Amino acid sequence: MHAELIKEIQTLFSTEEPIYLHEPTFNGKEKEYLNECIDSTFVSSVGKFVDQFEQQIAEYTGAKHAIVTVNGTAAIQIGLIVAGVEQDDEVITQPLTFISTANAIQYCNATPIFLDVDKDTLGLSPIALKTFLENETTQVDGHCVNKKTNKRISACVPMHTFGHPARIDEIVSICNEHNIAVVEDAAESLGSYYKGKHTGTFGLVGAISFNGNKVMTTGGGGMILTNDVVLAKKAKHITTQAKMPHAWEYAHDEIGYNYRMPNINAALGCAQLEQLPTFIASKRKLAESYRTICDTLGLQFLNEPADSISNYWLNAVILENREERDAFLSITNESKVGTRPIWQLMNKLPMYKHCQTDALENAMWLEDRVVNLPSTVIL
Ligand SMILES: *Cc1c(COP(=O)(O)O)cnc(C)c1O
Repeated sequence: MHAELIKEIQTLFSTEEPIYLHEPTFNGKEKEYLNECIDSTFVSSVGKFVDQFEQQIAEYTGAKHAIVTVNGTAAIQIGLIVAGVEQDDEVITQPLTFISTANAIQYCNATPIFLDVDKDTLGLSPIALKTFLENETTQVDGHCVNKKTNKRISACVPMHTFGHPARIDEIVSICNEHNIAVVEDAAESLGSYYKGKHTGTFGLVGAISFNGNKVMTTGGGGMILTNDVVLAKKAKHITTQAKMPHAWEYAHDEIGYNYRMPNINAALGCAQLEQLPTFIASKRKLAESYRTICDTLGLQFLNEPADSISNYWLNAVILENREERDAFLSITNESKVGTRPIWQLMNKLPMYKHCQTDALENAMWLEDRVVNLPSTVIL
């Protein structure tokens, strides 16, 4: 079965050369815009591509405001700050995520709490969230307080895994009831929609990544999404060293960050964004092919959840158990077909093993079984 799948993947990508998990595709005006950017000398922190890229991502996602950042991790961190997360707070997230999510919480000197995911979305489970909040927290002066630690739970960071939307409307309404701000980690889900609305636009703030392995890239980069004009202004201010607008004076009114995306990266982003619909169409077609192949071979393919349109950033299969998973990873990688297991759960890593969790049944089940398949755009 594994040998047949390898053959099928080589046929899909029309090569017997090494096939990587996800490579970027540059097939548009990248070189034109980069040359224009260099010729203008505005390659750094200001320039027309920065403004254009923010405006176009806002239009594409339907968010009222979009603020560029140096990377997606910084976008989450700033998202948490503008959402009101402070030192010694706690922030709920899922353990089944890339390390950035947990690190961004820790950069705010807050502590993550890891709650279980749903098996069909791989995103934070509204039931796990509701159960935890009802049993383990109380309201004090309009804040959610963890009964065990007496600390304030100020935010919740659900993540849209591999581009598949979480049950984000339910998560937002549960968090609203408990006075918790939602900061969506939409790093992987540019071009994914839940009930017709773009991921990253349900919560108070959303964060996107344009790292080299994502659905489109700026080399490195990220974007903060929000519908709140005050938060948008604050995000722009603190990502640009908190410099007060003035023709020549260096005046700063708080400790800001040098987190703005350079114009040269934004130029790449503008060119990539023009191709995004083509990339996503190709990825959805590839997913369709994988689904057919997996059905034939008796493998369980991870489909987009109900009520969702996924960008299928990374395709995934769910194997029988950890032994089969490991055998699958060895055979495919030995054949130069780039497959990867899903991330180790955050609560198992040395930095986060002291953090509070619930039973994490689904997260542990998925950790043992989920493997990503090569998912580069095929043109
Ligand atoms: C890629 C990614 C990020 C952000 O990554 P950067 O490399 O900092 O742009 C954050 N969260 C998740 C889940 C990701 O996959």
